[in-house]
Amino acid sequence: MNRSTRFHEYVIAVDLGATHCRAAIFSMSGVAGVRLETRLPSDADADATADQAVFFRVLDDLLAGERRAGLLAVGVGSFGPLDRERATILEAPNRPGWKGVPLRSIVERRLGVPVALENDANVATFGEYRLGAGRGAHSLVGLTIGTGIGGGYVANDEILTGSSGSAAEFGHMYVGGEGVRCRCGAVDCLEAYASAEGIKRWYRAQEGASRDLSCHGIFHIAREGDRAASETIAGAARLLGRGIASLQKIFDPERIVIGGGLSREWDLFIEPAVREAAENVFAFQKERLQILPAALGPDAGLAGAAELARDLVRKR
Ligand SMILES: [Zn+2]
Repeated sequence: MNRSTRFHEYVIAVDLGATHCRAAIFSMSGVAGVRLETRLPSDADADATADQAVFFRVLDDLLAGERRAGLLAVGVGSFGPLDRERATILEAPNRPGWKGVPLRSIVERRLGVPVALENDANVATFGEYRLGAGRGAHSLVGLTIGTGIGGGYVANDEILTGSSGSAAEFGHMYVGGEGVRCRCGAVDCLEAYASAEGIKRWYRAQEGASRDLSCHGIFHIAREGDRAASETIAGAARLLGRGIASLQKIFDPERIVIGGGLSREWDLFIEPAVREAAENVFAFQKERLQILPAALGPDAGLAGAAELARDLVRKR
């Protein structure tokens, strides 16, 4: 562990995901210090005791070599949705033991500093807004396309949280389709078609498709000319583009930033989606449609959480 950077005053940023817990120290001017990452136990237990033990061990290890009095605040981006005051995790489909856990007050009690808690996709969008591809824009829609599809919306420095902290769930907007049931229970959500899982399901339903290809494998054979794979990806891109057009018409953001594993397939997947979006926005929006790749990669969540923590300190 690199302990060469010690700050007199600092915040901790935490990114609590479905499979991992990342945490890092940041100075009050935003310089990154020590950073740790641990996988959460693969068998999520009923009351999340083992998960929480891992979570706090990461924080303890991070603090071990630091001046404890220098810790000013903690920012946490967590799976959600979260309750109205952002104090409690309302639902955690992949980590059911966290349901109902008052994460903010637990961390506040343990560390004795103020804690900001927000939904992970919102926090990642906030990171891109402040420090990444959204820098300089007044309003930003963020999309993270991987196993699922996460979203966030920031305007005039404020995250749109909604009444339950679950606003901007863009992966679960209705896009039409063939009546596919999404994991959220609704039918024909964007995520059911244009996420890695959605693309795999769609491809496997095609005639002659090989059953065991990963999403990455499907893109690979599409690049080699496989027709079923190419048609699947084109179909997913079309629905993604229509979803993006809806977001542009609803929010009229200055910029849309797309990250996540599938954004690496920019030419084959995102570019056709952008063309589809341009065909479906208002005529006056066509020219100013700005869709950019995310700049911070998997660090967007940590960057956003650190910004939230620093804001807590500044507002005191
Ligand atoms: Zn859904």
